[in-house]
Amino acid sequence: MKVAPVILWLRRDLRVADQAALLAAVDSGRPVIPVYVLDDEGARHRRLGGASRWWLYHSLAALEAALQQRGSRLILRRGRAEVALASLMIETRAHAIHALHHVEPWWQNAERAVLRGGLNLCLHHGNYLAPPGSVRSGSGTPYRIYTPFWRALRAQMPPALPRPAPDVIPAPTRWPASETLDSWGLLPTAPDWAGGMAAEWTPGEAGAQQRLADFLDHARVYAETRNLPSQSGTSRLSPHLAFGEISPATLWHATQDLGGSTDTFLSELAWRDYAANIIHQIPDYGSRPAKPDFESLPWRDDPEGLAAWQGGRTGYPIVDAGMRELWVSGWMHNRVRMIAASFLIKHLLIDWRAGERWFWDTLLDADYAQNAVNWQWSAGSGVDANLFVRIMAPLVQSEKFDAGAYIRRWVPELAGLGDDQIHDPDPLTRRRCGYPMPIVGHREGRERALAAWAAMKAKD
Ligand code: FAD
Repeated sequence: MKVAPVILWLRRDLRVADQAALLAAVDSGRPVIPVYVLDDEGARHRRLGGASRWWLYHSLAALEAALQQRGSRLILRRGRAEVALASLMIETRAHAIHALHHVEPWWQNAERAVLRGGLNLCLHHGNYLAPPGSVRSGSGTPYRIYTPFWRALRAQMPPALPRPAPDVIPAPTRWPASETLDSWGLLPTAPDWAGGMAAEWTPGEAGAQQRLADFLDHARVYAETRNLPSQSGTSRLSPHLAFGEISPATLWHATQDLGGSTDTFLSELAWRDYAANIIHQIPDYGSRPAKPDFESLPWRDDPEGLAAWQGGRTGYPIVDAGMRELWVSGWMHNRVRMIAASFLIKHLLIDWRAGERWFWDTLLDADYAQNAVNWQWSAGSGVDANLFVRIMAPLVQSEKFDAGAYIRRWVPELAGLGDDQIHDPDPLTRRRCGYPMPIVGHREGRERALAAWAAMKAKD
């Protein structure tokens, strides 16, 4: 008698190592049919950004190769996940679907729809250090502030040791039909803006392992260098984590031996879990301020200011370097993300949601939870303790974190400037270099932001 297969539903968990759903599928003793459903159309979903689509293409290609090495394949389907999975279940007479849990509201909805359709969906954990929603206070409430969250998460650690990829994945006797990756139009064509990304990144599990190995070479100085954009002090694992090409448990165990940097690194990794924990409680965190009075903050409608910020032409070298790094390479250093976000929200007084959307479209590591939580943190509109009135001074930040070399790299018209000019060139130097004057003065922007905040508070 033929044994009914199981389906492995892959989403942002594109790996074969330490993949709990894959291991459960293999352990079931049945043939396994791995499937990726491209489901990001329609009102329920947030459409993947352009940078993410580029990464997804390459990540799926790498995953397919890894599956083939193990005697398996990757089936590609498009459309609503619950519909695609239901028809695959019928076509293959599958017994069950195995998948990892995801916290994004559209994936939560899709999971509910699959279950409502009567399909046998078995969900597993493994994309976070601890299952989102499971870290709770003594009284059973989930945390909203990072520090107590991290303390409680830490008490539950370490996570289980990562499990290796299976050597062989049992194949069905007949494979169902698959679409082709190239037919999905995930790659940019006219123009192909992805050259800078291809030069910097290797999507896929092997690329993630290589990044980790490179990071471990200098990770002992992570605590001292992580805030310095001119140095490669951080792991740059974020796009790999965003697509689930490496498990957080793998990182936890790989970074136990970094001296003082171990704690610093793990506390940053825990921000990822914290963000998922917030989305688990407040699914629309990416589109609505958690502090409702922020809906009445008099944001400016300033398309030109927004375009200057997006294009790296604000006249603030540190902000422009970051925005150009993002556009070319699909990534931006965390310290500079904070400065650039604060600049948009406070100095330009543009609604944080415009920035969140731009990052969503252009970041290779675009992650709904991390992006929303960080933007609301920057705006002071979130559930955390950060305040709108804490306004970052970009020029002070640029000097303090020694961003000279970083600016020279990403704003080439300023490459010849010395340390005395690089953070804030004088008007004559700006003209000579063809670099714009500041779009708004620091004091003027700051006072305007504080006045807007006071106006919002007066309406309370
Ligand atoms: P490392 O310093 O090596 O840290 C390791 C991992 O820890 C990261 O890969 C990431 O998964 C996690 N981490 C580190 N810092 C943070 C943080 N502040 N919040 C959440 N997780 C963190 N990160 C994303 O992955 N996707 C996003 O869409 C995203 N949007 C952001 C928007 C803004 C406005 C800001 C200020 C930050 C945002 N971040 C986002 C967080 C952070 O900037 C990146 O995770 C980090 O720069 C990634 O680089 P890395 O892998 O070298 O980090």
